[in-house]
Amino acid sequence: MPARILSGIAIRDQIQAEVTVEIEQLREAGVRPGLAVILAGNDPGSEIYTRNKVKTCEKLGIYSERMVFPETTTTEELLSQVKLLNSRSEIDGILVQLPLPSQVDSKQVLLAVDPQKDVDGFHPMNVGNLVTQRPGLVPCTPAGILEILKRSEIPIKGQRAVVIGRSDIVGKPVALLLMHHHATVTVCHSRTQNLPAVCREADILVAALGKPGMVTGEFVKPGAAVIDVGIGRITTLEEVERFFPGDPKRRSQVETKGSTLLGDIDPSTVLPVAGALTPVPGGVGPLTIAMLMVNTVRAARLRRSHLAAYVAT
Ligand code: NAD
Repeated sequence: MPARILSGIAIRDQIQAEVTVEIEQLREAGVRPGLAVILAGNDPGSEIYTRNKVKTCEKLGIYSERMVFPETTTTEELLSQVKLLNSRSEIDGILVQLPLPSQVDSKQVLLAVDPQKDVDGFHPMNVGNLVTQRPGLVPCTPAGILEILKRSEIPIKGQRAVVIGRSDIVGKPVALLLMHHHATVTVCHSRTQNLPAVCREADILVAALGKPGMVTGEFVKPGAAVIDVGIGRITTLEEVERFFPGDPKRRSQVETKGSTLLGDIDPSTVLPVAGALTPVPGGVGPLTIAMLMVNTVRAARLRRSHLAAYVAT
């Protein structure tokens, strides 16, 4: 039997409905959560991501501002903007869209964000909170992955989980979250030996390596839950035939738009083996923005701790 498809869209809608209720409750208490998004430079992906983040805020009733800086911006300019946002009481969350232009010291800019407003969860203070399971803000994509697993009733406790990728943004935090949910976790990376054999031990396999289609059925234990975090693109009809054989929609995307999305998983060989699989697009991606909204509301509560207790995921 082919794998169950774990739709991130249905889960995103569920989470956004819950967030809307929370926003309404805050509004009754006289609070409107606010998010500031900083975009610097001309990265086309960042342009789309920041627009979508602001659009989702508007839809859910979160106040938002999008601040755009030119490709030539400096570390000092961004630092002074972050400082200003730190001091503004109507701003609960500050998101600095990465990547920043190469001349900017990204680490310094991220470090300047008030940890209480750090809705991406990248500040070392929040990283430490996550490691030690203290209240804080958890990175959005890893938090979204946990929501997919929990809401799809995939058991985590006592299960073997393998994470491919050790980045600060995805691999490390998702491994910590799985460990905190009592999985036995192995983290793999570019120097891991016998990668397919290690991955085949996993009941839950998280692929966050940024290598389109690299993870094939050979990496997957029969019945495993496979979470595809990668966002890559393929551009040729030969690749479409390899990864999406006989799929007219994918074929037409390549013919008309020049490319189609492909995650780190090769669906043609993984679907027949896995028990469950997140699609790309429509899997992990939609959860990332939903969890940003969750974090913005949490940050609003966190700064006004009299309103409600804050519980870490
Ligand atoms: P990254 O480049 O920072 O990290 C990649 C990790 O994969 C590294 O730790 C590296 O050691 C490991 N790796 C690379 N090649 C490997 C190989 N051949 N075998 C084993 N491990 C290997 O990337 P990232 O920021 O963690 O993102 C990973 C992927 O997830 C990218 O495709 C990115 O676009 C995507 N992503 C998606 C979302 C989303 O919302 N869906 C969010 C963040 C990142």
